[in-house]
Amino acid sequence: MQSTLPQHDIVLLGVGHTNAHVLRMWKMGPIPGARLTCVSNFPSATYSGMLPGVLAGLYPPERMEIDLVRLCAAAGARLIVGDVTGLDIENRELLLADRPPLPFDVLSIGLGSVPNRAGLLEADDSLLEVKPMQTFLLRLEERLLNLNLNLNLNPLPSSPLRISIVGGGAGGVELAFCLPMRVRKVLGDISLTITLIDSGDKLLKGSTEGLLKRVARDFASRGVHVLPGRRVTHIKQGTATLDNGVTVTGDLVLWVTSAAPPPLIKDFKLPQDDRGFLLTKPTLQSTSGEPIFAVGDTGTIQGEKLPKAGVYAVREGPVLWDNLHRRIKNEPLQDYKPQRGFLKLLNRGDGTAIGEYRGFSFEGKWAWKLKDRIDGKFMDMYQDFTPGMMAEPVPASDTRPAQMRCTGCGGKVGASILSRALARLDIPPSESVLVGLDAPDDVAILQPTPGKVIAATVDFFEAPLDDPYLVGRLAALHAASDVLAKGAKPIAALAMATIPAGTERKQEQLLYELLAGGLRELKAMGATLVGGHTIEGPNITIGYTTLAEQPAESVRAKGKLREGDVLILTKPLGVGVLLAAHMQARCKAAWYQPLIETMLQSNAAAASLFDEFGVSAATDITGFGLAGHLLEMLRASDLGAEVSLCDIPLLLGASELFGEGLASTLAAANRRVEAEIDTSKVHAVLFDPQTCGGLLAGVSQHHAQDTVSRLQEKGIAAAAIGTVKPMTAGRSRLHVVE
Ligand SMILES: Cc1cc2nc3c(=O)[nH]c(=O)nc-3n(C[C@H](O)[C@H](O)[C@H](O)COP(=O)(O)OP(=O)(O)OC[C@H]3O[C@@H](n4cnc5c(N)ncnc54)[C@H](O)[C@@H]3O)c2cc1C
Repeated sequence: MQSTLPQHDIVLLGVGHTNAHVLRMWKMGPIPGARLTCVSNFPSATYSGMLPGVLAGLYPPERMEIDLVRLCAAAGARLIVGDVTGLDIENRELLLADRPPLPFDVLSIGLGSVPNRAGLLEADDSLLEVKPMQTFLLRLEERLLNLNLNLNLNPLPSSPLRISIVGGGAGGVELAFCLPMRVRKVLGDISLTITLIDSGDKLLKGSTEGLLKRVARDFASRGVHVLPGRRVTHIKQGTATLDNGVTVTGDLVLWVTSAAPPPLIKDFKLPQDDRGFLLTKPTLQSTSGEPIFAVGDTGTIQGEKLPKAGVYAVREGPVLWDNLHRRIKNEPLQDYKPQRGFLKLLNRGDGTAIGEYRGFSFEGKWAWKLKDRIDGKFMDMYQDFTPGMMAEPVPASDTRPAQMRCTGCGGKVGASILSRALARLDIPPSESVLVGLDAPDDVAILQPTPGKVIAATVDFFEAPLDDPYLVGRLAALHAASDVLAKGAKPIAALAMATIPAGTERKQEQLLYELLAGGLRELKAMGATLVGGHTIEGPNITIGYTTLAEQPAESVRAKGKLREGDVLILTKPLGVGVLLAAHMQARCKAAWYQPLIETMLQSNAAAASLFDEFGVSAATDITGFGLAGHLLEMLRASDLGAEVSLCDIPLLLGASELFGEGLASTLAAANRRVEAEIDTSKVHAVLFDPQTCGGLLAGVSQHHAQDTVSRLQEKGIAAAAIGTVKPMTAGRSRLHVVE
């Protein structure tokens, strides 16, 4: 996806109030010669300042979300949604749960904070933490609905719903103001009591008496009961026990206490403050001197006693951005100079706010309008997904300039890069492989199981996403689909890869990630890697020649459809249009995860179930789309079919994108088969090309229902989409009904 590989890898771990600024600035003008990778535990980030407003129904939930999928796509940054397990400082790598370590040259850690659980000895699931904020609303609503069922609150509650909020900072106070609106939205006009518990003597530590009086007056009028100076030690079935043994009877406990360090950083082997946050210099760089920044709530500037608040995290953004440039250029870093004091605005949820600035408190509609304007302006900056400037390709210093690079055999990737990348892979031996990569020769020699035939296929593509490990996995899955459709079991594969020019270190890493991803899927299918070929080129391409074996008589040929067969499709469609949307930064975070999960679902499970049901004809749905591949089967079988549009499963977001007229570039060519389709409505889904698409099989009517049920039991979103019919004179081969 790039003509040369970057020289520097900048990695953002956690993309919240501070790191998100870097991503936004990257879109406007990336750092030359560098690549930006964002690692997040969710595909979106939440702006906490708007959470109370969302609870009160003043904003729709999406207003507080920063869509990282779209923003990264627009910025030309790589997004890895994953589970980080550690940090290897020596090798400058982030360790991840489900994929190889991710190297960095510069790292910025902005994981935020978690609510402090100090003093809490025991809690059951009636405790609801405000973090992760991305799922808070969903979790809250689920709990409320469950309470509704259990307490039989509907239609008329016999006693009020009792919610305790633990934590009397700004977040807890705003929640106490705004929560009742959400509860009533979910459960109707029920009676509700709220108790706010805080370990401090007063709420809103560090605030003026004026602000506290206004809050106290409001709480009194709204029936919010305040319990200061007490810690919660136990939570059981919604009842909180305090450190003096008193119990606060209730149905649900919300936990919004002061900030504690995110658990992940505990073992990072970086200097920490006395609470466990990462200690930094005023430049936001770790005091360890490593090229690692710690920002927002996660960092503590040595010698400063700043509260953990979003206002500081936001103001750190521009300094971090500047210091990343300086670090890459080896220039001295600049200091972040925190402001002394800031405007506090508390949302009362009724179109008014209470506030405080420089010792004076105030309230009114205008204060809410001011808060709304400040928050809205901030979030608007993160809702512009027009693709920005892409990073300039910079010739890698230790390689020949791109325009002078040789082609032909001279375009091969250097042997040492290849052998180092291969040495990092754990390639399994196989009984079928007589000569493989453990003793490489000019060829791989395979010994098929006696009595079986070899099915061979080749497939490769230009990387549709910018995460090489993920792309490697997709390539192996995509390439194996053909043989799986035929009923063959993959035994070995040969890789073909094109990687851009770059430093040896960056090329090796790229090749390793591509191959490691593929090998993971090959192993899962019981196959191994036996060879390949790698060249340099402007764009990343990857593919496999897959070798598989099966009894000759069991080949599920395309031409073996029978009249009356039910057509079963094993994956939803829409991959093509969603990937096209992603290229234009139009694929929303909510659509992205289901898309990736669907593409990553191997067709091996569906294929082996087809064996059980004696399916005789199958194919995989890939580039030509459903219509193209189905017509290939129908022509080969000399039959027709009727397909029902409403039975075709679609990926989340596909329908909306088709409705907007978006299509993959190949869709137009796929439409050439339209003449063979008879329909009142030619729907774009029929021509949508699939990467890692599902299998399409003809199953006898007798077995169709069982096959679909068994596939669904295995987590495969299979559906019966039509029936094979005889060809009728004067009718098109494929009849599509709505
Ligand atoms: C209810 C509530 C209301 C608040 N209101 C205000 C307010 O009005 N004004 C104010 O100044 N402050 C407010 N705060 C405090 C404010 O939210 C924080 O100070 C601010 O979010 C800190 O920003 P950050 O960039 O450090 O972290 P965050 O913005 O929290 O971002 C951290 C990011 O890291 C991600 N992450 C976490 N763990 C991992 C992991 N293991 N791997 C990968 N990614 C991870 C998270 O998903 C998140 O997107 C409020 C807090 C709460 C709880």
